[in-house]
Amino acid sequence: MIRIATLGLLMGAMVGLPLGARADESLEAGYAEVDITPALGGKRPVYLAGYGMNRKATGVHDPIMARCVVLKSGGQQIALVSVDLIGLQLPQVQDIRAKLPQFRYVMVSSTHNHEGPDVIGIWGRGPFHRGVDDDYLTLVVERVAKAVEQAAGNLIPVTAHFGTAEDESLVNDSRLPIVKDGVIRVVRLDKTAAAAAGGETPPAMLLVQWNCHPEALGSRNRQLTADFSASTVAALKKRYGCDVLYLTGTVGGLLAPPRGNVKDAAGNVLGEGDFEYARVYGEMVADLAAQAADRAEPLSLAPFTICAKPVAVPVENALYRMARAVGVLKRPATLWTGDFERMGEPMKMDQRKLPSAVETEVAYLRLGELHVACIPGEIYPELVYGKFQEPADPAADFPKAPLEPSVAELMPGPKWLMLGLANDEIGYIIPRRQWDKHEPYAYGKEHGQYGEINSCGSLTAPIIMAALKLRVAEGQALPAKAGE
Ligand SMILES: [Zn+2]
Repeated sequence: MIRIATLGLLMGAMVGLPLGARADESLEAGYAEVDITPALGGKRPVYLAGYGMNRKATGVHDPIMARCVVLKSGGQQIALVSVDLIGLQLPQVQDIRAKLPQFRYVMVSSTHNHEGPDVIGIWGRGPFHRGVDDDYLTLVVERVAKAVEQAAGNLIPVTAHFGTAEDESLVNDSRLPIVKDGVIRVVRLDKTAAAAAGGETPPAMLLVQWNCHPEALGSRNRQLTADFSASTVAALKKRYGCDVLYLTGTVGGLLAPPRGNVKDAAGNVLGEGDFEYARVYGEMVADLAAQAADRAEPLSLAPFTICAKPVAVPVENALYRMARAVGVLKRPATLWTGDFERMGEPMKMDQRKLPSAVETEVAYLRLGELHVACIPGEIYPELVYGKFQEPADPAADFPKAPLEPSVAELMPGPKWLMLGLANDEIGYIIPRRQWDKHEPYAYGKEHGQYGEINSCGSLTAPIIMAALKLRVAEGQALPAKAGE
């Protein structure tokens, strides 16, 4: 190992790589993936998550996967996992971590797939039926943990590169104000000359962060599929001959596949519910990712500084509280302390009318020059870029609420990833100024826009952004040192 590292250092110096690239000589990365498609044909149907209730899967179009990249530097290993699920919640992520004590940090983000099995509970037979097969959750936990161990067994020395590309026409925003996130962010991990044959340094892995609801197949589909991301991964794999980790970023507000500009070879416009639409759109996303990968610049990806802490988010949403009371949602609730950094006591049966909270996690990872925001739900693009409507619509519920700090302004450098549904799915994270649950409604609408019904409440965004600000401050205060 030492011999290879020294050789790499010499070669780095010889070809005049920037300083950042040399700092990474000890960086290793490994990839593994595992099929987590639920079995069909058993006693219990598989309820598809994401749209209406009681949508039962009838077949498998393409597998539901978990994919994992392990990064190692110094003595530390971290794992970045993506699952083709609607939103794996923190209790299951904690179960995965408990099986992997040798890792400094394990991040599990869901793609927010709307054509996979229910792993939350609200898509069962009806409002009082839990749609989750708890044995399936156990299987996901076990298989993901094994995949992480496998990835750690596949480590090879790599150099890192970071690139972005932008195309807002590749996302549709169905909620006013129109604010999109059309930036794709790619970390390209290349084999080192020492690890690859013939002095070539081809890509070994791509980490791709893109911002779109995987719902190209729509609400009528009954086939299990990873939606467009399966096609994105396949196209990039074919193009570069490397492994691909697809990660979902910003999806709130509400970012979905575009209409009208996804066409087949004959020029016919494709639309929702069509597997061709998912395939072609996925390839368009892959093309954008390739632009980012091809122009990526050297990136130092070590050492690792991890700032992750529990955050309490009050649950104002009456539907969430009811779903929990009837056993459709199973995760524990705590009493809301009024302070998001102070977790309350577990809520007892006779305390159901008291303000409750859910415990989630906000994390900031400083990986060398790369800054990673880990946000536990569906963040609105306004909160990512600070592109708030000014002034807010006066008919919104809190038009004078203070503006939250944005991810872009909190990240301490220009190279960052924004991971959504990271380690949890607590629903929409809506700028407080745009919260609009009560009449009159913003933009002169007769009914409120879609969003609030799938959010814990109007305090979610201020709390999540304040927590991110604290995590970043902690990360910046810690000395960056190589793993011991
Ligand atoms: Zn969503």
